[in-house]
Amino acid sequence: RIPLLAVDGGGTKSLAIFMNMEEQILGQGQAGSCNYQGVGKHTAAKSLISCLKEAIADFERKQKPESFSSIEVECAVFGMAGLDTKQDRQVILEMIREVLQEVQIHPRHLWVENDGFATLLGETEGKPGILIIAGTGSIVYGVNEEGIYARTSGWGHRIGDEGSGYWIGKQAVTAILRAEDGRGKKTRLGDWIFPHIGATSGEELVNWVYGPQYSIEKMAELAPFVYQAYQAGDEVAQEILQKASEELFIAARAVIHQLQLVEKPFQIILQGGILKHIDFVRQSLIQQLQDYVPLAEIDLGKRDPISGIITKGLSYLKEKKKNGC
Ligand code: BGC
Repeated sequence: RIPLLAVDGGGTKSLAIFMNMEEQILGQGQAGSCNYQGVGKHTAAKSLISCLKEAIADFERKQKPESFSSIEVECAVFGMAGLDTKQDRQVILEMIREVLQEVQIHPRHLWVENDGFATLLGETEGKPGILIIAGTGSIVYGVNEEGIYARTSGWGHRIGDEGSGYWIGKQAVTAILRAEDGRGKKTRLGDWIFPHIGATSGEELVNWVYGPQYSIEKMAELAPFVYQAYQAGDEVAQEILQKASEELFIAARAVIHQLQLVEKPFQIILQGGILKHIDFVRQSLIQQLQDYVPLAEIDLGKRDPISGIITKGLSYLKEKKKNGC
């Protein structure tokens, strides 16, 4: 029986890791998005299946010459983007059970949570803290010293995810069209975005948005080009990135306020591609947070979300061992 299966089901990629109690990776696999709100249940399930199959193949390679018709796991922890409501939980649980059946992985204990929540629990390990994710999507989760949780933002690409990669990409597309219409400030954003998507005009940009190549991830992939435009001095790009950091701060402030952490020391963890790679957004967010909660310690989220999910699973297993079961 393998002690742990940890799965980070993010908005752009899914990552699965089999691990033992010595924290050695026994096998791992990676695939595309398994956020069913973004890509639909069918595609999400397909991503999960291919990511788990890859992890099984890697595990078998390492265990050579053995191969397994089924895999028993003590504890499987899934951190899933798109798990936002009670209904999402039902949909995602059902999907995961079907997927596990398909790939013949049998966990004794199955724990399924939102990606941000799972990561927060692992990263804070009982201490007060908040986690801000800005990747393809965005969300803020927090926990205080009484173990009370709060969550804001992260209501998916259609209606929320302010400050995320998707949101930044969409703002940029809108800004280009507004400028072309004469409804908005002039911008050179198109100089970076057009070549990337193979367009030469606003009209072709619209074709791209409604065409077959479009996806949420593709929209999020425009974010680094907004950063390049900003670095080249484009004012509209700067405004978009500034607004992204403000939106993330507003979401974080609401969680901090709800949990009454304002005057207390606690940890702030920053994660996701936007906060990792777009220095301007990260710096500007950090500045706003430092002004609001000077006692907080800001961790730059150098670790991947999966590490929090692994910690969550390992602490469950250690607890079980301690209790002798
Ligand atoms: C999803 C959330 C998720 C967040 C961060 C959002 O698009 O709706 O469930 O936690 O992205 O991945």
